Amino acid sequence: MNVEKQVNSYYDRLLERNAGEPEFHQALAEVMDSLKIVLEKDPEYANYGLIERLCEPERQLMFRVPWTDDNGEVQVNRGFRVQFNSALGPYKGGLRFHPSVNLSIIKFLGFEQIFKNSLTGLPIGGGKGGSDFDPKGRSDVEIMRFCQSFMTELHRHIGEYRDVPAGDIGVGGREIGYLFGQYRRLANQHESGTLTGKGLTWGGSLVRTEATGYGVAYITKEAMNHFGDSFEGSKVIISGSGNVAIYAAQKAQELGGTVIAMSDSSGYISTPEGVDVEKLRDVKENRRERINVYAEEVDGVTFHEGGNIWEESGDIALPCATQNELDEDDAKRLVENGVRYVAEGANMPCTPEAAHYFQSKDVAFIPGKAANAGGVATSALEMQQNATRDSWSFDYTDERLQQIMANIFQSISKTAKTYGREGDYVAGANIAGFKKVADAMLAQGVI
Ligand code: NDP
Repeated sequence: MNVEKQVNSYYDRLLERNAGEPEFHQALAEVMDSLKIVLEKDPEYANYGLIERLCEPERQLMFRVPWTDDNGEVQVNRGFRVQFNSALGPYKGGLRFHPSVNLSIIKFLGFEQIFKNSLTGLPIGGGKGGSDFDPKGRSDVEIMRFCQSFMTELHRHIGEYRDVPAGDIGVGGREIGYLFGQYRRLANQHESGTLTGKGLTWGGSLVRTEATGYGVAYITKEAMNHFGDSFEGSKVIISGSGNVAIYAAQKAQELGGTVIAMSDSSGYISTPEGVDVEKLRDVKENRRERINVYAEEVDGVTFHEGGNIWEESGDIALPCATQNELDEDDAKRLVENGVRYVAEGANMPCTPEAAHYFQSKDVAFIPGKAANAGGVATSALEMQQNATRDSWSFDYTDERLQQIMANIFQSISKTAKTYGREGDYVAGANIAGFKKVADAMLAQGVI
């Protein structure tokens, strides 16, 4: 069978076995495209059912999460943890609390995580979890009760050597605190390496909070260097105003760019003079307000209610909100308006059509599994510190992060070239990530 047919038959079977999971299908399709390139050159990667095993999670957990709200009413949510692949190390990946969460979304995120974690060069496998719980508008104690109930089930499936969750959309420092507290109580030990994103006084790592956003800016800088370019004087558009977006904005501006637009799900702000990151952090992180409040409190900023941030023009676009938030029309408009670099801070924020369009127009397009790997990489550095009962300085940890992001760019760029796809960082990331996991799986036998 030729490779095209062989990979299409894997894909068809996967669609059948995972019916009704569109996000997972989308993530699979993108990797399958790159696998065609690998198998042409290295057909032995099809041996021992390797591709079939890679696409089937090692374990999938779904559980009931009952909790009591402030009115005394019982609420029932659904919890998930997909332990996708542990060939390189314990499962590692965040927890997402958002009403849209379902098995398809957790599987797509878990699948992506395998390759991302492999690209970091650190010993971590891939997994992801979460719940359809909506934290918006919930009181602090409701969040705490929910986190405690969620962890009451999850705790038996995680641990320093087994599975190490972290934050994602809707799960930040506060939630990790409540989750860790309940874990510690149930496990009857202070096993700090079991969750990352912890507070600094109880096992957390400096730079973890900033890491994903900083990493997006660092890898963009690396790509720009590659083309003899720099952030200096560039206009940057960043969607979202959560953890990833805020620190991507901070670092992009430190590196000389001007962040001219940011958003949340209510709309976007345009701010031609750049974003006041401290003010934005106060509005979003401390006060947990909507982004229009920032526009109301800062001169020269316009709020576009329900507006599309991708109508702005800039040199660099960093989608940092959520999956499929940037489609082909947006990509066309961005290219028309002069965008030259796109790095995905969020997971799969560009639709496949948008990603292809950017690539067809020679925009340097860095996919999420490479661009946002700084977060999980720093989580792995947090695990290293926990294992040695040490804590590193901000500068040292940040230097490690910069080095990791530079290595990722070099690795995906070199791999793309080796496989005859120079400048195709999607193929580069998929192939480089895949080969390391595949080699480990082949070495470890059919399990
Ligand atoms: P947060 O919850 O901190 O922030 C998410 C941001 O995106 C918020 O501003 C939110 O607005 C906005 N948003 C969410 N959905 C939409 C939507 N449909 N339209 C417009 N804006 C939207 O999450 P993170 O910053 O942690 O995560 C963002 C992305 O980055 C996710 O894809 C996540 O998987 C990915 N990621 C995160 C990592 C991390 O370390 N945190 C690591 C690697 C990837 P609102 O508040 O209005 O909902």
